[in-house]
Amino acid sequence: MEIACLDLEGVLVPEIWIAFAEKTGIEELKATTRDIPDYDVLMQQRLRILDEHNLGLNEIQEVIATLKPLEGAVEFINWLRERFQVIILSDTFYEFSQPLMRQLGFPTLLCHKLEVAEDGKVINYHLRQKDPKRQSVLSLQGLYYRVIAAGDSYNDTTMLKEADAGILFHSPQNVIDEFPQFPAVQTFEDLKKEFIKASNRELSL
Ligand SMILES: [Mg+2]
Repeated sequence: MEIACLDLEGVLVPEIWIAFAEKTGIEELKATTRDIPDYDVLMQQRLRILDEHNLGLNEIQEVIATLKPLEGAVEFINWLRERFQVIILSDTFYEFSQPLMRQLGFPTLLCHKLEVAEDGKVINYHLRQKDPKRQSVLSLQGLYYRVIAAGDSYNDTTMLKEADAGILFHSPQNVIDEFPQFPAVQTFEDLKKEFIKASNRELSL
């Protein structure tokens, strides 16, 4: 039995913080872990900026609802779900991803959680666990599933390594160069082919 694990941002939907920063015009929100390597410092800065702009969860979700999944993503995930049980493993937050997950038909998502006050203000965040993508793969294997995983970036590589087969999708060249053990593809058509190759069943496109 096989399970497909997919990263969300950069694979099925745009990078949510970056797209949100572009929609709202708040430049400071474009900072990522490349600019501020300490994730907690980065998140505290993001929460402070949201507060300064009076953006509570409702306003944030309204903006995110105007974002669209990447072109071809809806068709791809429907294709995948006809052939595999699919779980999205993401470092996003349920509350942010919800408007995009709606457009994807609410596939199963394991990610992190925000703490929101009654007035809608985002006051804190809670990571589900350490190295969550890899831990999820390990747990699924503990249930005797064979796991095929795909993701685009550094936060996916422990998941790809732990999986029975790992695929890089939409990855920048530096990630492709650093992890030559994984096949790297850029289009959903090629990603479908990689899933078929990685499967131990006879699947067709
Ligand atoms: Mg990603």
